[in-house]
Amino acid sequence: MEKAIAKVDDLKDGEMKEIVIGELTLVLIKTEGKYYAIGGKCSHAGAPLAEGLLHGHTIRCPWHQACFNMLTGERLEPPAIDDLPRFEIKISGDDVVVEIPDSAKQQIPPKMSKPDKNDKRTFVVVGGGGAGSSAVESLRHNGYQGRIVMITRESVLPYDRTALSKGYLKSDDAKLYFDRSKDFYDEYGVEILTEREVTEVDKSTKSITFSDNSSMKYDKLLLAMGSVPRKLNVDGSNLGNIFTLRSFVDADKIKLAAKKGTKAVVIGASFIGLESSANLADRGVSVTIVAPELVPFEKLLGNEIGNMYKVLHEEKGNQFRLGSTVKAFEGDGVVQQVVLDNGEKIPADFVVLGVGVQPATKFLKGIDLNPDGSVSVDRHFQFAEDIYAVGDIASFKWWFTGEEIRIEHWRLALQHGIIAGSNMAGKPAEYKSIPFFWSNQVGANLKYIGHTKGWDEIIFQGSPEKKDFIAYYVKNDKVSAVALIGNTMQMLACAQLMQENDMPTPEQLRKGSVDMAKLLGNR
Ligand SMILES: Cc1cc2nc3c(=O)[nH]c(=O)nc-3n(C[C@H](O)[C@H](O)[C@H](O)COP(=O)(O)OP(=O)(O)OC[C@H]3O[C@@H](n4cnc5c(N)ncnc54)[C@H](O)[C@@H]3O)c2cc1C
Repeated sequence: MEKAIAKVDDLKDGEMKEIVIGELTLVLIKTEGKYYAIGGKCSHAGAPLAEGLLHGHTIRCPWHQACFNMLTGERLEPPAIDDLPRFEIKISGDDVVVEIPDSAKQQIPPKMSKPDKNDKRTFVVVGGGGAGSSAVESLRHNGYQGRIVMITRESVLPYDRTALSKGYLKSDDAKLYFDRSKDFYDEYGVEILTEREVTEVDKSTKSITFSDNSSMKYDKLLLAMGSVPRKLNVDGSNLGNIFTLRSFVDADKIKLAAKKGTKAVVIGASFIGLESSANLADRGVSVTIVAPELVPFEKLLGNEIGNMYKVLHEEKGNQFRLGSTVKAFEGDGVVQQVVLDNGEKIPADFVVLGVGVQPATKFLKGIDLNPDGSVSVDRHFQFAEDIYAVGDIASFKWWFTGEEIRIEHWRLALQHGIIAGSNMAGKPAEYKSIPFFWSNQVGANLKYIGHTKGWDEIIFQGSPEKKDFIAYYVKNDKVSAVALIGNTMQMLACAQLMQENDMPTPEQLRKGSVDMAKLLGNR
């Protein structure tokens, strides 16, 4: 089908416009005097790409920073996993005409090779989360045609873990969002072993052992086990109805307990704790949040943003006991109250622990682990002969600051997987990006770009009280991280500028508001 979708003068150079034709959404782009069109919805969560950032030939998604090549529709950066279709454009008189094939789809899986029985190699991936699942696709995308085995302790195919403390927890009707179907994995020859636990890795024999003592040989191994939630070592910790939140099974248990009118005590005032608290409140649960810090997110975001979240949670009816630790859980078989260090007893029908996680590497013997349980990898995400590690368990040197860091972010785990898969397939790749995460809670959707452990100064543009701000975290006279609510274009431009290591100096930022989008556009 051919359809006129604009007049030649409708868009200025550098502009994008969303066009809907039947069931299909396109983004029309004008750059260097020419028109282009690709699928207009991000293949991650469906964000309108016309509201994203066009920089060179890259479109950056306005929601979670997926990137696409506007010339080809190719996915360049996750969390999107699919490419977008590209549509032919022609100019007819003063009409911009798009050609839409009958077979056009909103998104398409990236090009991947299929297994070849003559390739006798076996690559094993331990972990079926974000990092593991992106790695297997990357292996096939980069031409590997041997056997792939992905092993997971969970009972299901890889799914979107980030939703567990958000929409999935909020509603009984919410469905798990699966990245790919069984048919997809079958088509590309990815064997997935569910409900299997790896208990040993033997580098000398290049084999792994399972909890049932069976074993498997590998030619190359990728470790992507993610994290396990910490528990509290206090009296009563073994009582029933004390939950952690890592898998959909955990979330289902919490949902079962979270009936309207019940009382929950949430321990921990960081992301898992507070996102859970917000959604439990929406279920009609009365929530008390207990945490040792005096302000939520104190160490990660600072007092101003932390206080904003505290007020928003209180407006929702959630109560805080800050500056408090848990002395004991009390109850008869199941938890009934939480005893604080000051002696206060808080009634509880159930407890959610959001007290941090640790890398799921405890079982690894003969492998050098860092004090935090992580594995230090080189720039190709390799740490021993034919063994790679990615995601929450991997400490890696971040080019931006030169520091070795370990970060628990979804997009980063996917990036790790893509890079390691490429390296394992024989195409050298390195992490050249900027970490990014998001948190949706109490109507304040935070975006965070970069990474810093502590800071010397936070420079604010706008105000957290108005839920409309940009916070620049300065360490060693350099902006290492930026937190924002609202300000989408500024957020996208900051990400691009950081990626190019071209952020304004703290001195420039202290002088007053800097329009990052303009700065980027003017270079
Ligand atoms: C509730 C929740 C909400 C989150 N929200 C956000 C968010 O909004 N934004 C964001 O950026 N990040 C978020 N995160 C963090 C993000 O999900 C993680 O950083 C990411 O999942 C890490 O990916 P991974 O592949 O390293 O580990 P995981 O996704 O945890 O996957 C690890 C896999 O390995 C399996 N496994 C572990 N040990 C073994 C073993 N011995 N044998 C076999 N299989 C094993 C596990 O069962 C699991 O399938 C959230 C995390 C949680 C728990």
